[in-house]
Amino acid sequence: MSLPFTDVELARLRADFPILDQKVRGKPLVYLDSAASTQKPRAVIDAVARLYAEDYANVHRGVYQLGERATRAFEAGREATRRLLHAPEAREVLLLRGATEAINLVAQSWGRRHVGAGDEILITAMEHHSNIVPWQMLCEERGARLVVAPIDDDGSLLLDELARRIGPRTRLVSVAHVSNALGTVNPVQEIVELAHAQGVPVLIDGAQAVARMPVDVQALGCDFYAFSAHKLYGPSGIGALWGRAELLEAMPPWQGGGEMIETVHFEKSTYAEIPHKFEAGTPHIAGGAGLAAAIGYVEAAGVERIGAHEDVLLALATEAVREVPGLRLIGTAPHKVGVLSFVIDGIHAHDVGTILDREGVAVRAGHHCAQPVMQRFGVPATVRASFGLYNSREDVDALRRGLRTVIEVFQ
Ligand code: PLP
Repeated sequence: MSLPFTDVELARLRADFPILDQKVRGKPLVYLDSAASTQKPRAVIDAVARLYAEDYANVHRGVYQLGERATRAFEAGREATRRLLHAPEAREVLLLRGATEAINLVAQSWGRRHVGAGDEILITAMEHHSNIVPWQMLCEERGARLVVAPIDDDGSLLLDELARRIGPRTRLVSVAHVSNALGTVNPVQEIVELAHAQGVPVLIDGAQAVARMPVDVQALGCDFYAFSAHKLYGPSGIGALWGRAELLEAMPPWQGGGEMIETVHFEKSTYAEIPHKFEAGTPHIAGGAGLAAAIGYVEAAGVERIGAHEDVLLALATEAVREVPGLRLIGTAPHKVGVLSFVIDGIHAHDVGTILDREGVAVRAGHHCAQPVMQRFGVPATVRASFGLYNSREDVDALRRGLRTVIEVFQ
């Protein structure tokens, strides 16, 4: 199996990530936790540093040149996000703290207006906690019900079951584009078609998708799309919600404060147009600059090639772990991406993670903020190796060697 990036290309890409050039516990760092957060290329680090070193001031208000430069650098993140998602207009992109804040915003602003007693919000059994708990909080407040579409033993969504659960009380369908715990890619376009046929809007949690596959919100036809920059080779603390202009315009503001107003009187305030209506307070200015740089970097590498690269690594790693006695993969859907979740009989996931760490291999061990997925598969936790554009065959070999050590320790 050959990788889409040639050895020379991959070496060049890896060299863009200064953090990778280090030893951990005396061994070269092998970073296999990109689903939790990706590492940052020099282009992103430089964009953030440049903003602070050369262009920093508060945004949107300054009449002076520095303020204009800072505003331009921050707003570049919004325009880059529009490009990334193929959104019609930049004003439909809200720059927020990340996917979690984006989903909470929809739950609190759109949800409070549209969800009442007896209504239903439909999610799937593979959601991250950030696409479960905000809806539970809303349902509790409004007397509504959270409905969950089940998944198959291989971690695929049971689409028919989801379709059966869209009914006259369904107010919103909110689904992950890609599951962080299983790697499953959901048929989001079909989900949108099913929901829209019944007049139900759809939110897609794209946290795990944007760094691995092209996303076109117009082609998908969805109503909201959320992601975090830190899983896209960008800074933490910033991310975006895209929403259809007419939906965002009709939604009440969520947080009040500076930036989001038009006029303020003690008797009554009026609100700014979108996107500012939803961006109260000073934003993550350097984050906007870093997000723009991250998207530029991913575009230059080619998101399709990144996805194809991770697919090959996933196939190699899936093959490599077959030799480990007692290892069971959790999440084997036919359509899945760069996430390898597994358990080993008689060895706790945390012990596997700790021994791998001694070998310089960084993987995740735990419930991956998806406890219902763990419950579905009857395990307390899994080990999760996940890939990024900088991972190599050698990294997969290191994982294989590390797992051999795990087995030796426990024999
Ligand atoms: N949704 C999915 C599928 C995720 O994997 C994550 C993070 O792991 C989130 C949402 C939440 O992202 P954040 O913590 O950046 O807001």
